[in-house]
Amino acid sequence: MKTINPNPAFGSHLEPFMGLTTFMRLPATHDLEGVDAAIVGVPYDGGTSFRSGTRFGPRSIREMSLLLWGYNNVLKVAPAEELKIIDYGDVEIIPVDIRKTMDSITREAAQILANKTMIISMGGDHSISLPLLRAHHTRFGPLAVIHFDSHPDTWSEEYPGEAYSHGTPFYNALREGLIDQEAYVQVGIRGPVSDAGDLPEARKRGARIFTIDMIFDNGIPEVLKKIRAIIGNRRLYVSLDIDCVDPAFAPGTGTPEVGGLSSYNILQLVRGLKGLDLIGFDLVEVCPPYDHSSITSILAANLVFEFLSLLALKKNQQKVEKEP
Ligand code: MN
Ligand code: MN
Repeated sequence: MKTINPNPAFGSHLEPFMGLTTFMRLPATHDLEGVDAAIVGVPYDGGTSFRSGTRFGPRSIREMSLLLWGYNNVLKVAPAEELKIIDYGDVEIIPVDIRKTMDSITREAAQILANKTMIISMGGDHSISLPLLRAHHTRFGPLAVIHFDSHPDTWSEEYPGEAYSHGTPFYNALREGLIDQEAYVQVGIRGPVSDAGDLPEARKRGARIFTIDMIFDNGIPEVLKKIRAIIGNRRLYVSLDIDCVDPAFAPGTGTPEVGGLSSYNILQLVRGLKGLDLIGFDLVEVCPPYDHSSITSILAANLVFEFLSLLALKKNQQKVEKEP
């Protein structure tokens, strides 16, 4: 039997309840030399409109990641063996200032990306996706985006005169040209909205919406086929708001909406992105104060593991293509 996520720095007999808490016990460092992927915490919740507390998300997800074993038996890959991965720690944030915080997120993310290291960010509320998209856009140009959520997050403003909150990141990202409007997909949208215009407006702004009814009526394989056809070979950023999952499976979140995906459904959807040209991920809105038995953080840790697995498969694929 192999040790759980062995990291030589800690010795070989470390159990999940022992040692320092980094994501999957990966090395905590800012040294990006040769690093393929960095796990980055963004503990900011000043963009939250209802139940706050996602600033505690990264810490809780790291803690639950200690339960992860190293081999993905569905995707057939051990990400930490294929990729050099580090836990970068948390981006510097200022809890009372959303603009300074967004600038700080963009700056630090851009530095990591400039090193050709890919980023998997753990929020924080959904406002953090805008500065992350800005950094990825600078590095890669306009991006295809798959946005898992129960909410469209494409309001032009949530509070009078204030452009930024967790309800507006994708309005701003579309307006700033960060997203390729031909390839912006929302998945899992449901629940009451503020008025009848919310979804038509999101569509007008460029969103291709797969509502929860479309997913359950057509089935996940069919929906994946359609999503993959839209994305094609574009560079793809994935933003996953944990409230796309039903509150029965992910209660620890700020704005829960009933009637959503199961844990298994979201795993299927994420694994179904295999082979696409993935360049970045964020996972947001995990709110530990409302969690029970850490079930939301356990799911989030597993989804980050799936993201890492997809990146590992991509690297293997590139290796094969380079061989004569
Ligand atoms: Mn959201
Ligand atoms: Mn949401």
